[in-house]
Amino acid sequence: MEKLRFPKKPLLQRLKLIIKLRSALMTSFSAKLILFILIFLFDINLVLSKEYASEIFFKIRTETNSEAKSIGSYSKGCLAGAEYLPNHSLHYEALKPSRNRFWGHPNLISYIKNTSKEVFETHGNGLILGDLSMPRGGPMPYGHKSHQTGLDVDIFYERKPDLAMNRFELETFKPRSVLSPNQREINEDLWSDYHYDLLKIATKDDRVTRIFVNPLIKKELCVMAEEKNDMDWLKKMRPWAGHYNHFHVRLSCPKNSELCINQADVNNSSGCGSELDFWMKKDKLFESNSTKIRKWMLLSDLPKSCRKISME
Ligand SMILES: [Zn+2]
Repeated sequence: MEKLRFPKKPLLQRLKLIIKLRSALMTSFSAKLILFILIFLFDINLVLSKEYASEIFFKIRTETNSEAKSIGSYSKGCLAGAEYLPNHSLHYEALKPSRNRFWGHPNLISYIKNTSKEVFETHGNGLILGDLSMPRGGPMPYGHKSHQTGLDVDIFYERKPDLAMNRFELETFKPRSVLSPNQREINEDLWSDYHYDLLKIATKDDRVTRIFVNPLIKKELCVMAEEKNDMDWLKKMRPWAGHYNHFHVRLSCPKNSELCINQADVNNSSGCGSELDFWMKKDKLFESNSTKIRKWMLLSDLPKSCRKISME
């Protein structure tokens, strides 16, 4: 008897093939899913185990008890043995005490006290101050790129009121810009010889290496200094984006801070020539957002001693 040919066989084979393919696909999908979950967990683990310097330094509320030393560079460093600046004085008010950024190398604290005293004695008003550094310096989670070694301070152009400011005023005071509302020129209603003198007094201390001002302010200083035939002091005044309601004073490395890294010295010219043209472009007048760089800086990116300082 002739064997019957069942058409089922190819169908069965096809079915088997489909089942095989499906399970192969399922396996591969499951494998991919498992792999994806593993990679995800691995990434999370990596993120969690990273030591972000800004988070570490931000949480430390007190200074170290060691000798005062500035370590590293202005934008990648830390500070040992900081001194704190009281919020009030006859000669100044320091804004936003809640930020805990009123710490500095003793050189900076003495600079602030001397300079504000001189302004008070010369002009009859004190200063309004912004941030110095955190208790052990280091990168900040928001705000400044530098201010990491206790050698930088922001000083507002506004005069200190005669009466001491209360805590609420210190936290909420909004210093005015000295630029016009369209931010293309100096606001002549606000700007005066006082500001010229203020900046000149601020540069007098030999420890000052640079003062950053908005390029429009540097330009105004150049015009005024030329009229007064008084160009010598201008070389330390450096144009930099932003800095229209405050100027930023930077001191050079203290003598006993062996690990402190100075910036190159400013050259001897007043900086009032063609160099200033570069800064007059609109995108150079106002700050770029470089917060991310300092926020995600790792503890291992800082000088080695900063790890020790963060753990003392
Ligand atoms: Zn500053």
